[in-house]
Amino acid sequence: MTKTGKINVAILGATGSVGQKFIQLLEGHPYFQVTEVAASDRSAGKKYSEAVNWFMTTPIPKDVANLTVKACAPGLESKLLFSALDANVAGEIEEEFAKKGYFVVSNSKNHRMDKDVPLLIPEVNPDHLELVKCQKFGGGAIVTNPNCSTIGLVLALKPLADNFGLDTVNVVTMQALSGAGYPGVSSLDSIDNVIPFIGGEEAKLETEPLKILGQLKNGFIEDTNIKISAQTNRVAVLDGHTESVQVNLKTKPTKEEIIEVWKNFKSEPQALDLPFAPINPIYYFHEDKYPQPRLHRNLDKGMATSVGRLRDCNIFDYKFTVLSHNTVRGAAGGAILCAELMKAKGYLD
Ligand code: NAP
Repeated sequence: MTKTGKINVAILGATGSVGQKFIQLLEGHPYFQVTEVAASDRSAGKKYSEAVNWFMTTPIPKDVANLTVKACAPGLESKLLFSALDANVAGEIEEEFAKKGYFVVSNSKNHRMDKDVPLLIPEVNPDHLELVKCQKFGGGAIVTNPNCSTIGLVLALKPLADNFGLDTVNVVTMQALSGAGYPGVSSLDSIDNVIPFIGGEEAKLETEPLKILGQLKNGFIEDTNIKISAQTNRVAVLDGHTESVQVNLKTKPTKEEIIEVWKNFKSEPQALDLPFAPINPIYYFHEDKYPQPRLHRNLDKGMATSVGRLRDCNIFDYKFTVLSHNTVRGAAGGAILCAELMKAKGYLD
């Protein structure tokens, strides 16, 4: 705890794209205070402001700029860690910390599909947090945030699954450059171009929603029984993933009924009034030209999913467009909301 009663937190991978977003979003947070930053040996030992190539639109918070970057090894004073580590190293490092009693809230893919690790979207499956009680890390725990495209998609699918039953989903994504980390895709590859491949992304979109929309039964998750086909593309947008979605539903509601359940969708983060909870998790746009990444990615603190263009489909029941901010809702902001839910439910006591 800090003098102000806030919980001290450390950012693992603090110099990267998501790490910087954590630091930006946590400035002035009512529950959490960044008191430690950690990254690779390339950065450890340097002052944060000298180790980082800061590319956020707000200045580095003063108290963070002067911190010395630490190594990502147990010995950190903060018990709560937000992990934005490169997936090549995240798995082992996060596990090592959890075994030493730390709570790790991770953005990396490594532990997402572990049977005892919650893959959490606080509005969709808050009950899955209970899986933490089945973990074998002693006093520590790992909680994961889904893939950035999965989060926007599943937020839009959840009210459909609950109200009409979901059968099959086809999704084609147009994903922002910031999703590839920093420095990410080279300018010669990305400008004037669309790259029709993002390594490992289609498999994540086809499997993660099954776990997230699954049922918690006797300490494990029974995956939901839907089929998803995904195609993922990298496009020359800075932030905000857009997804063209087609769905078959078990019952056939009208368009008005679908829009109504999207607009009315609220969940535990809203009931608990968590600081990072959007007022509305889903905003529906009636204008044919919306949603658009440049216009709508920052809606409701960047934590909302924008949906539009609901229409009949010649192959599926309906088709529509989804947009969400990949480094806010899809990464740092989503992980902060997970930690807020953990605090509200007494998991951080
Ligand atoms: P990034 O910009 O490449 O940053 C990677 C971070 O990991 C840097 O801080 C880097 O530190 C650190 N790191 C690399 N090797 C390390 C090592 N051996 N030991 C300790 N630290 C090491 O990546 P990113 O885009 O922020 O993504 C971070 C994680 O979040 C990834 O797993 C990614 O898949 C996931 N994610 C990203 C997004 C997104 O939209 N970008 C969304 C959801 C999830 P140095 O600077 O010292 O090298």
